[in-house]
Amino acid sequence: MADDAAGLEQKLAVLRSSYAAKLPDKLEEIEEAAAPLSSEPSPEEARHALDALQRLSHKLAGSGETFGFKDLGKVARQIEDACASLLEMDDPPSSRRREELGELLKSLRAAAGNASDVSPPAEEAVEDGGEKARKGREEKTVLLAIEDAALTSKLEMELANFGFQVRLLSHPAELGDKLKEFRPAALVVDLDTGENGQPGCCAPKCLEDEGALCCPVVFLSAGDDIKALLAAVRAGASTYLTKPVNTIELVDALDDLIETDDQEPYRILIVDDDQSTAGYNKTILQNAGMNTSVVTDPMKVMERMGHFAPELILMDLYMPGCNGQELASAVRLRPAFAGIPIVFLSGETDRDKQLAAMGCGGDDFLTKSISSEHFIESVKTRVQRFRMLRSLMVRDSMTGLFNHTTTNELLETELARSRRNKTPLTLAALDIDHFKSVNDTHGHAVGDQVIKNLAKLLKQRLRSTDIIGRMGGEEFAVAIPGAGGRQAREMMDRVRLAFSEIQHRTEMGAFTVTLSCGIAEFPRFTTAQLLTEAADRALYAAKEGGRDQTVLAEA
Ligand code: GH3
Ligand code: MG
Ligand code: MG
Repeated sequence: MADDAAGLEQKLAVLRSSYAAKLPDKLEEIEEAAAPLSSEPSPEEARHALDALQRLSHKLAGSGETFGFKDLGKVARQIEDACASLLEMDDPPSSRRREELGELLKSLRAAAGNASDVSPPAEEAVEDGGEKARKGREEKTVLLAIEDAALTSKLEMELANFGFQVRLLSHPAELGDKLKEFRPAALVVDLDTGENGQPGCCAPKCLEDEGALCCPVVFLSAGDDIKALLAAVRAGASTYLTKPVNTIELVDALDDLIETDDQEPYRILIVDDDQSTAGYNKTILQNAGMNTSVVTDPMKVMERMGHFAPELILMDLYMPGCNGQELASAVRLRPAFAGIPIVFLSGETDRDKQLAAMGCGGDDFLTKSISSEHFIESVKTRVQRFRMLRSLMVRDSMTGLFNHTTTNELLETELARSRRNKTPLTLAALDIDHFKSVNDTHGHAVGDQVIKNLAKLLKQRLRSTDIIGRMGGEEFAVAIPGAGGRQAREMMDRVRLAFSEIQHRTEMGAFTVTLSCGIAEFPRFTTAQLLTEAADRALYAAKEGGRDQTVLAEA
């Protein structure tokens, strides 16, 4: 983390010094624009010069503040304000007013002179420090440190059904060595191991001896008294489960503990006519792991929205052609973009003007002098919220899988991609067997749990690029891009087998359930509708054929 911060500081320092290097040119441009004001200008000439001066000093104020040149930003802002008030007057500026403006321009030159004194950082500082030495955690590998052979083999099988790679220890004393060999994503330790079977023996001691643990630990124990809990806490427990172990509970705990990197980076569209300000903000956001796209011409925003699908728009307020307020309102007119957060980033400090901008569809207002930490935080919070709201719309609340409508939309999108890339795609339709009798025998709540267990299994076993949807009741659909029919049938058959082995627990004991699956592949079936119909027919055939099987649709 500290490395990241240092890396960012270095990158920003480079941008800052290259900005400072360009200041003399910017100053010259401003002085040129102001030149007509130094002699006796006609009203027309004065207006023209003030217009240009206001625009240029506004831009300089914004970029100066962004790059942290406070004095420069302040003087530029004064010039901008002076121009604005002169433009509001009916008469051309008096010689007194023009002299005052001349004084401000001198202060601006002085402030710019100080700013360009910044010495560029040493060349190697630009470098990212190379590949970060990341001792990669092996994805979804769970190490079991359990002496009880029966419990070990039960968990080994059941966790494997949920797609975890399970590794075992032959003796608790091996733990230290095993952890040096590889990094599991999580460790499951039985506290009741040891000769006398007392809690708090062997395993925690090993862990302590190893010093800081490299991964989260789930402790299992028969004891649920404070002594056992304390022993677990002292040994670095992340989670504690009491025996008998419920595998679903353990899977839930592991799910929470194992960080997966499958979260896509946030996509931020930066709209700013000033290239250097946009570049600076882009660097800050990219360094925080976000994807960015910069548009300097407001007229190109709509086009870029379609390609880039931003999750937040960072918008400058004053731009040539149209201002940020108008642009935000225009974006909001398109239903597809109506929910995207728009954050104005501007030098505007007038609260009334800020509020007016927010009234036109902006969600937040940040000033250009904001610190990079605050800036990143505000953007992150907005995108997280956007993703959360979006997920409520597209996901089924019980399972977290895509809902019926979204699944169909995503299937269309994937199908179009497969058509373009000439790659296969398979659609699987799944239905739980005799689910009505699960409800009748165990009650609706247990039925719900079975549905959730299947959802969890699908999420664990399939790739993040596969589209998994709950189509209603106990019916699911999976679209697998890149897989042909045979390959998909093998995949789904493994899912079917794993599901049939899950022990669904109730107070009355455990039971198992099976599912049937029908599969249809593109390009054998060419449209989403034909694929869906073929997969449904194959599912029906699987039911007719005796259930608990996977059938591939023939043409
Ligand atoms: P088949 O093997 O032919 O699929 O038989 P089935 O009993 O699974 O099929 P059927 O379509 O006759 O019954 C599905 C049942 O699923 C009926 C409905 O009450 C139940 N169901 C639908 N949605 C839910 C739900 O969200 N939770 C629970 N617990 N049950 C549900
Ligand atoms: Mg069914
Ligand atoms: Mg059904």
